[in-house]
Amino acid sequence: MNPFNDEYFMKQALVEARAAADEGEVPVGAVVVCNNQIIARAHNQTERLNDPTAHAEMLAITAAVGVLGAKYLTNCSLYVTVEPCIMCAGAIGWSQLSTIVYGASDEKRGFQQYAPKAFHPKAIVKMGVMEKECAEEMQKFFKSRR
Ligand SMILES: [Zn+2]
Repeated sequence: MNPFNDEYFMKQALVEARAAADEGEVPVGAVVVCNNQIIARAHNQTERLNDPTAHAEMLAITAAVGVLGAKYLTNCSLYVTVEPCIMCAGAIGWSQLSTIVYGASDEKRGFQQYAPKAFHPKAIVKMGVMEKECAEEMQKFFKSRR
């Protein structure tokens, strides 16, 4: 069995999500994978950076292009614990990520409802990978804030 499967990388994204929760941030984590290697990892930092655009996906994409020294992330995969929002979906499309894997759906803010064509036309989308764990992270966070 390939140890570097979707669950493996989603677990890494979850590690990032938990780091976000520890910092009082909405627990969303993301990793960018290229040739079975994590080249960038990030979590939501909107509080720390005082920046509503500092979503995990945005930070991971910026870090990944920096690592590759390339403008596009063709042949790379993004793993993110929660369905990307419209802003991130736009960034994912511009970066030409080939595969997008996400855990929990976000019916309120997720891109699927508003911008289902935001990704590259050939991009592969997989959803629901470790959905339960990813959703639990969000539920725990918002419960503790009430
Ligand atoms: Zn976003």
